Amino acid sequence: MKVFNSLTRREESLAPLADNTVRFYTCGPTVYNFAHIGNFRAYTFEDILRRVIQFNGMKVKQVMNLTDVDDKTIRGANAAGVALTDYTKTYKDAFFADLKKLNIQPAEVYPAATDHIPEMIALVEKLVEKGVAYKSDDGSVYFAVTKFPGYGKLAHIDFDNQRTGARCAADEYDKENVGDFALWKAWEESDGPVGWDSPWGRGRPGWHIECSAMSMKYLGETFDLHTGGIDNLFPHHENEIAQAEAATGKEFVKTWMHCAHLKVNGEKMSKSAGNFFTLRDLLEKGWSGREIRYVLVNAHYRQGLNFAFTALEDARKSLERIDRCVDALTAAANGVAAGETPDWAAKCLDDFAAAVNDDLNTPKAFAALFELVRHANAYLGERGTGNGERGTGNGEPSAILDVFKRMDSVLGVIFFGKAAKAEVPSEIQALLDQRAEARKAKNWAESDRLRDEIAAAGWLVKDSKDGQSVTKK
Ligand code: AMP
Ligand code: ZN
Repeated sequence: MKVFNSLTRREESLAPLADNTVRFYTCGPTVYNFAHIGNFRAYTFEDILRRVIQFNGMKVKQVMNLTDVDDKTIRGANAAGVALTDYTKTYKDAFFADLKKLNIQPAEVYPAATDHIPEMIALVEKLVEKGVAYKSDDGSVYFAVTKFPGYGKLAHIDFDNQRTGARCAADEYDKENVGDFALWKAWEESDGPVGWDSPWGRGRPGWHIECSAMSMKYLGETFDLHTGGIDNLFPHHENEIAQAEAATGKEFVKTWMHCAHLKVNGEKMSKSAGNFFTLRDLLEKGWSGREIRYVLVNAHYRQGLNFAFTALEDARKSLERIDRCVDALTAAANGVAAGETPDWAAKCLDDFAAAVNDDLNTPKAFAALFELVRHANAYLGERGTGNGERGTGNGEPSAILDVFKRMDSVLGVIFFGKAAKAEVPSEIQALLDQRAEARKAKNWAESDRLRDEIAAAGWLVKDSKDGQSVTKK
């Protein structure tokens, strides 16, 4: 599989350094608020990435950090008058619930910054020992960018025009303000009760050191892949490289990947611009997790994506089309094991594989999926006319369904199995559970009554040998 490496600015093969396992680090949420769907554009891109790696027979070890201490979380906790850990817990829990709604596969490790302060202090100490970091008068520690010759290699910064000796205390700044950045921030009045003891006095880590320390702890000093939204490229990822490579003398990461922004009216969706929708906002408006996921993954990750409700409407129609085809195939398969795959279905799968292996070209991958739908509908239509032995008991419908499943192992929008169940609201699930009980007790009248009640709430129950299933009417 080939991907675009932001470091070399070329498409390159992604081949793991060891154990057929791609070790990768993704910058996770700052848990001071509910994540917005712009953030989820980054997380769904990373989900597609890990699924394509697995599609190609490789394994993944993904680490996603939770930034639970920084300028924003401290401000939020102190304004609310609650302990930092209590404040961030609400948003950590919400984040994991949102990941499930979007059918995002969990990462292997979710380290929280506040659980790794000793590792961060050790890394800062190493940088001070090596002479690339220094303590300032107020007790903060800064990284001296001019002491690390590779500084600027990811963002391709022109070093000649750089201000030297300037310092930037904030975690986020732009290229015009390149300067020595904070590794450790001395305690200030506004930090309130938040702080840790260190060799430089009481304080807290800078945002950038967090990711260098935690990624190397879980993935080693050199690992395969590091990802994030394009806004993370500078200064965050540039600084991560500087911190890690200055400390170890080794290459930090082979491949860097960045997704473009989700925009609203041409502007980046962000908390600070106030132009954002959280996942909850959209769910409350009646859109489902799979419809939202569809919109996010349907565009190529390096292309800007403008958020619009018309895209959600299109997603709903497209998913209905896929569902109808998959349901008809399931009925035609009639439980018969998969037989031979028709040539046209095999060709669609080849096209799909070529698309996702070409820098995660999801628009082309979706085109291959719809080609499969088109062929499958034609195939089912022909079977419907009763022309001969085609499809009857020969396992072809099951084989075609397997192609859908293989594609969905990457796209994750058709929601086979558990995920589909997870989309059923809890009150409907409760009625379904009662109905299952009634059927077990052979109380058919009660079973029928519950079926009607579920139907009145807008869900259609079907019974098969595997039990009952529901679809939205
Ligand atoms: P944050 O919580 O701001 O640190 O962001 C978490 C992740 O979401 C990072 O990888 C960001 O680059 C990414 N991100 C933030 N806003 C957007 C957006 N509008 N579109 C795509 N990715 C974003
Ligand atoms: Zn990070």
